[in-house]
Amino acid sequence: VPALERAESLITLIPDYPKPGILFRDVAPLLADGPALRAVTDALIAPFAGEFDVVTGVEARGFLLAGAVAIAAGVGLVPIRKAGKLPRPAASADYTLEYGTATIEMHDDIPVGTRVLLLDDVLATGGTIAAAKDLVARVGGIVTGTAVLMELEGLGGREILGDPRLHHIFRG
Ligand code: IMP
Repeated sequence: VPALERAESLITLIPDYPKPGILFRDVAPLLADGPALRAVTDALIAPFAGEFDVVTGVEARGFLLAGAVAIAAGVGLVPIRKAGKLPRPAASADYTLEYGTATIEMHDDIPVGTRVLLLDDVLATGGTIAAAKDLVARVGGIVTGTAVLMELEGLGGREILGDPRLHHIFRG
C-alpha cells in the first residue's frame, strides 16, 4: 500500500533520545501528515473491524491514535492515564520501563463485558501493553484486539504478551 509506505517513511529515527544509546522512533511527523494519519488509522482498525465497542490508548501518544481510531470506527474512547490524573474511582497498575517504573490508571466504570481495542504507538518490551491489558480486565472489559504502529523486534514484547493476533503496522 503506497500510503502506508509513505507513512512509514515519515517515522523519524532520533539517536540517543531520551538518553544515550536509545534509538527513539518519533512518530510525530507521521501524525502531522493527513494522508499518512488516515492510512495508519484504517490499518490499525482493519483486523478488528466490528470486534470492539470502545478504543483505549495509553497516555500520551496512545491517545493520539485512539482519538483518530475512535472517530473512524464510530466508537467511544476510554483513556488510560498516568497515575493521579483521573477524578473518579480507577483501577491502577504498576509496571517496569526501560528506565524506571510507572503507574497507569483507568476509570472503573465501563460496562462489564465491553470489548476493547487497545492501541499504542510503539511496542518495545511489552510492559506498557501488558499493564494496560491488566487494567482493562480489572475494570471488567475484554481486550479483543491490540494494535501498535510499530513493533520493535528482539525486545521480547510479543513473547510477553502471548497474543497471536497482536497487530503491528510497521516493524523496527
Ligand atoms: P514498552 O513498555 O517497553 O513496550 O515500551 C513501550 C512504551 O514506551 C510505549 O508507550 C511507547 O510510547 C514508549 N516507547 C518506547 N520506545 C519508543 C520509541 O522508540 N518511540 C516512541 N515511544 C517509545
